[in-house]
Amino acid sequence: MKILLTLDYELFLGSRTGTVEHCLIEPMEHLQKAVEPVGAKFTVFVDATYLLRASQLSIGHKQLAADVEQITRHIRQLDAAGHDVQLHIHPHWAYSTYDGGEWRLDHNHYKLCDLEPDAACQLTAQAKALLDETLGHPTRAFRAGGFSAQPTSLLRQVFERNSLVADSTVCPGTSYNSSQQRYDYTTVPATSDTYRFGDDICQPQSDGPFTEVPISMHEVSPLFHWRLAFNRVTNRLVKLPHHHTYGDGIAVKTASESIVARLTSRQNCQATIDGLKIAFLGDALRSAKRMGKGVFTVLGHPKLATPYSVERLAAFVERAASSGDTFITISQLIDKQ
Ligand SMILES: [Zn+2]
Repeated sequence: MKILLTLDYELFLGSRTGTVEHCLIEPMEHLQKAVEPVGAKFTVFVDATYLLRASQLSIGHKQLAADVEQITRHIRQLDAAGHDVQLHIHPHWAYSTYDGGEWRLDHNHYKLCDLEPDAACQLTAQAKALLDETLGHPTRAFRAGGFSAQPTSLLRQVFERNSLVADSTVCPGTSYNSSQQRYDYTTVPATSDTYRFGDDICQPQSDGPFTEVPISMHEVSPLFHWRLAFNRVTNRLVKLPHHHTYGDGIAVKTASESIVARLTSRQNCQATIDGLKIAFLGDALRSAKRMGKGVFTVLGHPKLATPYSVERLAAFVERAASSGDTFITISQLIDKQ
């Protein structure tokens, strides 16, 4: 099995964004150390819309200028260390402001489809140009903010006008509907491996111009989500340090229907290294192998890493490597197409 470890490199998108140091720099150091012994490299989807907006506003704000400088240096270091830096777009940054201490986020432009097609293409072009210039070479792969890549007609325009060839947003078998996120990938089978698409991101099309690398999913029982909820409450009470995220911001609230569904029925969940959910990664890998998948695509966020999850990640990659699994980046996948 080829394992693709992907990270969304971003601040928090809720009522407090958190800091660059704690959401990005510090956890990335721990994550890198965890995978280093087996030589694995991350595919890092950098929220380039944040970087763009922070750059635009940095003239009037010393803190933002320092943040941009720190991230620029960090991204170059990641690239030089062999990690695969690619493009992540959260459009709301373009409409958000900074008051000198905190970001004031615009919650009306969270999804790509909240923008007119021209505005979505232009914003992607500007953010990509900045990221490409930072790296010194072009990015080719994309992940939509909030997993909201639909409608494909819009995504197609964004891809065609920005020379993007691959996407890794689809979460097979799931749908979500809130003011921040909207997607419906229920028609994509859980067994889906990498596939070509054109007019519909959910529909494999052998001569399609783009490649989809879906995030791997696995079934989780409601019991786990009850345990997760219990742990969140008790961690808050007793402050178990190994379960505290490195990230110091506040996430977007989960839609209430989604919480009810998770607590009452078996759910398709993303294979992830985030926090307590990493406990299921071994099961998710075994289930992907049973389905005969060729690529196991794992999702993660530096901001949600904890000392516990980093320790589990080190053990996971070591076990995987010793049982013959290999690690791949999205650029390597594209080049093999
Ligand atoms: Zn994101």
